This record gives sequence, C-alpha cells and structure tokens, in this order.
Amino acid sequence: MEHNTVQVQGVGVGRGVAVGLVLTMPEPLPEPAEQKHGGDAAAEKAAVSTAVTAAAAELQARAEKADGAGKEVIEAAIQMAQDPMLADDVTARIDAGTTGERAVFEAFRSFQEQLIALGGYMAERSTDLGDVAQRIIAQLRGVPVPGVPESDTPFILIARDLAPADTALLDLNQVRGLITRDGGPTSHTAILARAKSIPAIVGVGADAAIADGTRVVLDAASGVVTVDPSDEQVADARKRIADRAAQAAAPITDGALADGTKIPLLANLGSPKDAADAVALGAEGVGLFRTEFLFLDAQTAPTVADQQQQYTELLSHFPGKKVVVRALDAGADKPLAFLNDAHEENPALGVRGLRALRAKLQILTDQLEALKNAQDETAASGAPADLWVMAPMVADAGETRYFVEYGKQLGLKTVGVMAEVPSLALVAEQVAQIADFVSIGTNDLTQYTLAADRMLGTVASYQDPWHPAVLRLVKMLGDAGAAAGKPVGICGEAAADPQLAVVLVGLGATTLSMTPAALADVRTELAGVTLEQARAKAIAAIAAESAAGARAAAAAVA
Ligand code: PEP
Ligand code: MG
Repeated sequence: MEHNTVQVQGVGVGRGVAVGLVLTMPEPLPEPAEQKHGGDAAAEKAAVSTAVTAAAAELQARAEKADGAGKEVIEAAIQMAQDPMLADDVTARIDAGTTGERAVFEAFRSFQEQLIALGGYMAERSTDLGDVAQRIIAQLRGVPVPGVPESDTPFILIARDLAPADTALLDLNQVRGLITRDGGPTSHTAILARAKSIPAIVGVGADAAIADGTRVVLDAASGVVTVDPSDEQVADARKRIADRAAQAAAPITDGALADGTKIPLLANLGSPKDAADAVALGAEGVGLFRTEFLFLDAQTAPTVADQQQQYTELLSHFPGKKVVVRALDAGADKPLAFLNDAHEENPALGVRGLRALRAKLQILTDQLEALKNAQDETAASGAPADLWVMAPMVADAGETRYFVEYGKQLGLKTVGVMAEVPSLALVAEQVAQIADFVSIGTNDLTQYTLAADRMLGTVASYQDPWHPAVLRLVKMLGDAGAAAGKPVGICGEAAADPQLAVVLVGLGATTLSMTPAALADVRTELAGVTLEQARAKAIAAIAAESAAGARAAAAAVA
C-alpha cells in the first residue's frame, strides 16, 4: 500500500528533530458580541478593573514559576495588561455605551493593529497583546483561559502562535516540539524555543491542517514537518534524535574543523549574569559583550565605579580566555535618552555608535576608564582574562585610528573595531593595519549593505546575511585580516546559523561568536568540514545571485 506522506514547509528554529503525535492548542475565546450595556457604565468599568487586576495577578503567579527569558516575557505582558493608554481607550468605549467585554476586545484589537502596521518585531508582539486581552475577557466571563493542552503522554504542540505565558510554562517532559502557523523567526515561540532548545518550526501557514493524534516528524534544520511519515522516515528521525543526544552528552570540545583548524566559539552576552550558562555550554570566551544593558532605563550614564564592577564580574568568569567588550552602541534600534537627544529622520544613518560617543566624549572616556580599571583588576587576580575592547559603527580608517589611539592612550591593551558599515569593509586593508582586530557585526552590515531597516518587517526578506553582497564584504575583511595577521571574528546572528558559520570560516573568519544556545549545533557542523571544504563552499556562495542561491550553492558543495 502506498504511504500517504505530506510535507509542510515552515521556518525551522535551531537544528532539533522530534517525532510525535500532534495536539492542537484550543482556538481563542469567541469574539464578544457588539452589545451596548444597560447604562451602568460605572459597573462595567469596575468589572473590567477587577478583571485586569485578576489577570495581572494570574500572570504574576505564572511569572514566579517561570525563569529567565520566560519570566521576562510574562512580566512584559503584565505591564501591557496595565497600560494606562489601553485603560483610557477601554474607559472611553464603555462611556460610549459599549459593554466591558467588547470594549476590552476593541481597544486591544486597535492596539494590535497598530503594532502589526509597524511590522517585524513589533508585529510579533501583537500576539502577546491578544493573549492579555483573552485573559481579561476570560476573567470577565468567569471561564478558564485557553492554554496549553494537557496530556499524560508527550506530544508535539501545534498552535496559531504561542503566547508568552504559555511558552514560558511549557512542560518540557510533555512537549517534544512546537509548530506554529503564524509565528515568524522573531516571535516569542521562536525566541523561547531557542532558549529552551525545543525543536520548533514556525510560520507553516494557515492551511497546514494537521488533525490531533496524527504522527509527524519535525526537522528544524530543513524547516519541514512530515505528516504521517513512513516507518523508514520515523526510524531515520529517531536515529538523528539519538545522535544529537549522544553529541549533547559527549564532553564539550573546543571549536575546530575536521582537519584540526581551531575556530574558537565565543558567546554573545548582554549581562555578566549570563556568563555562567555560556561557560557551561562551552563558550571559549566572549566575542561580544553588549554594554547597553548598563545604560538602558538610566536617566544618566552609570558611574565609572558601577561600570568597573560589572566588567570585573564579567572577566572573573573567563580566566585565561578572551573577552571582547563593545563600547556603548546607542542610537537607531538602541536609543538612549541622554545620548541620542536630537530628532533624526533616519536614526540608523544618524549619530549612533562611535559617532554618538564622540559627540558626548565624557561617556566614552568614563567607559574606557572603567574597562581599563577592570583590566588592571583581572591582571592582579591570579587568573586574568584577556580583555579586548571594540567600537561599534566605525566607518573608515580615520575613525578606526581615532578609537584605537584613544583606547591605548587610556591604557587598554587590545583595541579593535566592529565592521558593520560597508565603507569599513571597502577599506579593509587600511583598517587591518591600524586595528588590533576586527569583529564583523553581520546584523548591521546586512542592513546597510542591502539598505533594509532591520526593524522593518516589510523589508525582512532583504535582511539575509547569506546575500552574496554581504558575503563578499566579509571576504574583503577576512582577506585583509589574513594579510595583516589580524584576527577577524563574526559576532552577528549569522554566526549562529551552522551552515552559514562554515561559509564565514571559508571567507576568513577566525572566531565565531553567538548566542550560547547555538554553540552546540555550530560546533558539530564545523567538525564535519575541512578548511578546504569551507573555502570551496564560500567560493560557491559568493558566486550566487541571491541569498537563497548562496545557501543552495554552499549546500551543493560536498
Ligand atoms: C551586529 O550589528 O551584527 C551586532 C552584533 O550588533 P547589534 O546586533 O548589537 O547591533
Ligand atoms: Mg550592530
């Protein structure tokens, strides 16, 4: 009998594989009817207020049981539930005669539409807002909130998109994998699946109807869900799951290619608090420490002493290892009130990164001093870390010289620049003479090369670091670094994509830095290729005409 297998394509998160029976997340509560209340607006408002308080309390209870990224997303949802602008909108609708339930529904929907219109990351936050509305309406109706289905046996959860409160509390013993119809690669489902290493495929589309109880194979590396797989397909998937488990259980080795070429695998960190987890996952140092967290929410810059304490704590986790700290990168997607005070029509092309620091020199001076003090403290400890410091958004050799000279004048040992602006790559051989090292930020380099705002969902398809134009700039930087004997690292998201990581090494990257959850998959992929093979894949990729073409061309090289 012929086997009736169907394949559904989505966007895979990570490289996990799962086999199991699917269970569908219940659909949202039905939309409240368009009704007028009986005239007692005060009673409606009081009921809504009680419901909001109860929904927030319920979320708070969930937040207390969650941890890490899960806790943060639930706390963000609690803030949304209590947003004064939304509350005003609900009140105005009740005053106009609408029932409380309907007023909540309409006010949240209007807010959701505004977020969707913004596209990208903001559009994906609209799911979170919809979840908060459901919780408030469920409280008003006195019915349970739709949530993750319960089952005594493990299952693969399929949902339209998962809300933060659900993903944060997923029982990992029961949920083998996640499939969403709507979510994109930056949805909460994707972020949390990555953080918790749950195999996931997002955005399979509304038509992907898979009945409860159907067996599927989920292959995140290819983004394919195989519905009703054959026995051979199940056996193959089970073997791959076992192989991955064996890899995860094996002692962690340093990053290296099949021919023994060392490629140190480093962590991107945003706080010293995340350092211990990164070390446990085998990070061989830090390739990008984003210092913005020290400054976010602050009305004024933190003091030298405050900063020094954070940097010293960071260094203490990496004795004998390299730690690359980036000077404050304020502006555009990371605005800071006290640094970016002027209105700019195009902030990504404005006074950001190093430009903003030079405009407010005291902030840069304080930060470099704090780093120098931390460098001295680690040197005095029995087990010093090796501190490297780099500047963001550097445009040319002149800016490179400025930052390197200033850093050295203030006593820093190793000073380099990030390559995020295409102009820097175009003068790469000049830069490589001046800087001690270069670190390529592929997120911004892609944004500027393809002229595609990284915050804008409508141009997200241009934001693909596989584009041969981006890869050619990486090659220029890699070649210049090799000629001058200077290290060239990668610290953008591109390094976390295992196949792309191989190509980046082929283009001349000497280290790769990424979110720690991606380290294991990249380590495995690198171990399977020689430098010669990585170079052959890189040559094939840069000859392609598109990002998709580059992916396919690299994959076709054995
Ligand atoms: C980058 O631009 O690739 C980068 C690593 O910096 P950020 O994402 O913080 O802008
Ligand atoms: Mg950047």
